[in-house]
Amino acid sequence: MISGISVSPGIVLGKALLIDSQKVKINKKNILKDEIKSEIKNFFYSKEKTIKQIKNIKKEIEKKLGKEKSEIFEGHIMILEDKEFEKDIITLIKKKQYTSEISTKKIIKKQIKEIKKLNNTYLKNRALDIKDIGNRLIKNILKINIKNLNKINKKVIIISKDLTPSETAQINIKNVLGFITELGGETSHTSIIAKSLGIPAIAGAKNVTKKIKNNDYIILDSINNEIYVNPKENIIKNKKKIKKKFLKKINKLKFLKNLKARTIDGKVIKIGANISNTNDIKIAKKNGAELIGLYRTEFLFMNRNNFPTENEQFESYKKIAKKMKNKEVIIRTLDIGGDKDCKYMKLPREDNPFLGYRAIRILMKRKDILRTQLKAILRASYFGQLKIMFPMIISLQEIRFLKKEVKKVKISLKKENINFNKNIKIGVMIETPAAALISNELAKEVDFFSIGSNDLTQYTLAVDRGNDLVSHLYNPMHPAVIKLIKKIVKAAHSNGKWVGLCGELASNKHATQFLIGIGIDELSMNSPSIPIIKKIIRKSNLKNAKKIVKNIL
Ligand code: PEP
Ligand code: MG
Repeated sequence: MISGISVSPGIVLGKALLIDSQKVKINKKNILKDEIKSEIKNFFYSKEKTIKQIKNIKKEIEKKLGKEKSEIFEGHIMILEDKEFEKDIITLIKKKQYTSEISTKKIIKKQIKEIKKLNNTYLKNRALDIKDIGNRLIKNILKINIKNLNKINKKVIIISKDLTPSETAQINIKNVLGFITELGGETSHTSIIAKSLGIPAIAGAKNVTKKIKNNDYIILDSINNEIYVNPKENIIKNKKKIKKKFLKKINKLKFLKNLKARTIDGKVIKIGANISNTNDIKIAKKNGAELIGLYRTEFLFMNRNNFPTENEQFESYKKIAKKMKNKEVIIRTLDIGGDKDCKYMKLPREDNPFLGYRAIRILMKRKDILRTQLKAILRASYFGQLKIMFPMIISLQEIRFLKKEVKKVKISLKKENINFNKNIKIGVMIETPAAALISNELAKEVDFFSIGSNDLTQYTLAVDRGNDLVSHLYNPMHPAVIKLIKKIVKAAHSNGKWVGLCGELASNKHATQFLIGIGIDELSMNSPSIPIIKKIIRKSNLKNAKKIVKNIL
């Protein structure tokens, strides 16, 4: 039995599928003379395989995004079909008796070096392509599985060193029963996506990629934080029983769907869902969400090769607005950076990405991206109850700057005679200690707050939210965080503004009494958690909850 950090609850049983991490380790450098022939054969075979893979990707992209976008892959194929490139690699295998992977690596490196010397932006981008292609080719030479979680076509439990948020967002939930990773923490975005997809997951399971082999029979029980590898029949039977009970319990909560989260003494808390794409609306509605409290728009920007256009964004926001009818939808502007990468944005590698160039810090520099997104949101605001929310705020200057930008976009829309909601509400996430400490001043600038307890905890405690080595220190109920939450709620209410909370704490059933007692007006969370939180609120008493808060404070 292995354990880790339970990041998304549930029990699943099935075969393991090991997925390699992105990094390629090359151990063997040289070959014997009589291995040269087979080494060259492997190189040609792998090259053809790589070309075939890229042609398939090209076809897929063409179908999804059009011919123009797929042209970039034609360039990739040309690199591989280049006779000079091929000849250089074969020469190294023959003359130096290097393995084909080392030969490929060396030639790729040499090509990139030469291109970089030319100091030309177009060619520099091409260097990245060459690196990408080289890695893919080397992986094929070494027969390493290349991840494409969308393509998994049998029911499996994924075992991997790590999964990025964008990879997780690609998961086909019909076939992926759950996943176990060696790295990651409770509120990493990979875990958040798993929770909202409703797939059981355990992160931080040490050495799990060494302990589990492909096709091993696995029990993933993330309710009790237990992983069994090839367990005995009696354990399987027992776990199946527990799973049945768990599902029955969830089923029993269905009746709450159309009921309000009203305490016994009449206080109503609004219950929202966090979503990361338009498909999530279905799960949100099924679980009884009354609003979308957080749309993480960065996922609209990931898993593609270029920025979504204004129109693409507009269509997405409009679709959500319409699907939610007259219910509120809080659209958060692009919160890229930290653990969420977007390859084509070519963000610099940073030592401390969570403290670095992310979210509005990027948008305030890249006004083209900011204005395109604001324009798309404003245009869509005509079709529903949209609100704008800015993340990662630390100062009044930032929110004033961003509000001015909203104003400018409104003026240009007016000039173009395009309809939009002139009174669209603007809010900020309070997710840095700085914002919490100046929340009284910030409240005067905006219409609402939403507390981002995931980042607020990370920044207040100086504990990386995605690092399993310090996950025991990650505690959103730490007295320091609690004191900040109290301050934020007071600041909002004394300025006549409402305050929500959209971090993972919103779905933590041990925190519900505290959150309603302290005065949170709205809780937004992963959809599968909505029924249980509603149930707890409906059994609570505001008076009691307030007493509990007093004791805690
Ligand atoms: C948060 O920080 O609490 C939050 C809701 O935003 P994200 O998890 O996307 O950083
Ligand atoms: Mg955040």
